[in-house]
Amino acid sequence: MKDVFRIKGAIQNYAWGGKEFIPKLMNMLNVDDQPFAEVWLGAHQRSSAKMNLDGKEISLKFFLENNPQALGDRVINNFGNRLPYLFKVLDVKQMLSIQTHPTKKAAENGFYAEEKKGIPITAFNRNYKDDNHKPEVMVAMTEFWLLHGFKSLEAIEDVLKSVPEFKMLSEYYQRILFRGVDNKLFYFYKNLMEMSQKMVDEILQPLAERLSLDFIENKISKKSPDYWAALAFQNNRLKGGHFDRGVFSIYIFNLVCLQKGEGIFQDAGIPHAYLEGVNMELMANSDNVFRGGLTIKHVDVNELLKHMIFEEVVPNVLTGTEVDKGVKVYQTPAPDFELTRVFLNDLEKYSCENIMAPETLIVMEGAVKVQNVNDEFLLEKGEAFFASSGSKYTLVSEGASEVFKASVP
Ligand SMILES: [Zn+2]
Repeated sequence: MKDVFRIKGAIQNYAWGGKEFIPKLMNMLNVDDQPFAEVWLGAHQRSSAKMNLDGKEISLKFFLENNPQALGDRVINNFGNRLPYLFKVLDVKQMLSIQTHPTKKAAENGFYAEEKKGIPITAFNRNYKDDNHKPEVMVAMTEFWLLHGFKSLEAIEDVLKSVPEFKMLSEYYQRILFRGVDNKLFYFYKNLMEMSQKMVDEILQPLAERLSLDFIENKISKKSPDYWAALAFQNNRLKGGHFDRGVFSIYIFNLVCLQKGEGIFQDAGIPHAYLEGVNMELMANSDNVFRGGLTIKHVDVNELLKHMIFEEVVPNVLTGTEVDKGVKVYQTPAPDFELTRVFLNDLEKYSCENIMAPETLIVMEGAVKVQNVNDEFLLEKGEAFFASSGSKYTLVSEGASEVFKASVP
């Protein structure tokens, strides 16, 4: 029986997406000048990849529901009857919201509590879309900018002092530092998130005005939080022209720039926001997001504070562990997924035998021939395939190629 299948990712045209990278990757024309934000190579209930079975187009989700053996016993026993991961290509043109994700336990409790209260799954104020955690690993495909975790207490002190408009915030922060409280970051962040909108506007308006001219004249470096704040002022206005308090977070979280091939892992509780660039992202199959601004979507401060870890984070940039020539694994503690990057020269091979969990692969550069006992087909740039648990396959590179693989560790 056939056990490897070409699949076609589901495109998400969210407004923050770029207009070129994904259409070019997928060999599509963007005649309507649409934003192409994400390609989902998964079996998520909201949007599944498609495949062709006996001449009929079906969703990968439908296929897995009807052929659970493709998931394999190990996955079914550990994660239930579903693909444990969601694999994506993202092209971020406009910054995304500041967010945190819950732990598995918190997601289960929260989901069932909201179900009990009868809040519809699609309601604006619904926090928990499912009962799963959402750790995420990503690898940059271009220079990639993001916010990731809190800076150290000292670094926050320095940055607040350096922005004249933050004088009052800086003084408040000093008082917290001198107070004998344990969780200084918690009190400070809570205060920012609960501050009146009037006060937020009073602080941010003069900052927006000061930065705008320098920003328009390209005088601010991307390495400065001022650049991203100025960009946020341009794109993120709340109803009534109010200022988005998410801008504060641009200064107090680590601003990270990943180079192509570098990755980062975001576990439960780590605040983060993607600012700009293209990446490959692999996450647990979940949609549970708590937002802290830079968005017009639902912000629930209580929930956000409950799930955020208020500790300094030193960003751990992943370069991947070389497990074989040209094969790098981006290791994380998440049991749900593993991301592998494969570089092949002309005619070089990459073989996987008797895989114990389903794998999803996409060609990001070049082309490979996929060989399997039942099948052989050419996979070109932007094309993807799904390998069932228990299958084996070999990739043979046609010219130099770069392939990303999602699997279960
Ligand atoms: Zn996230």
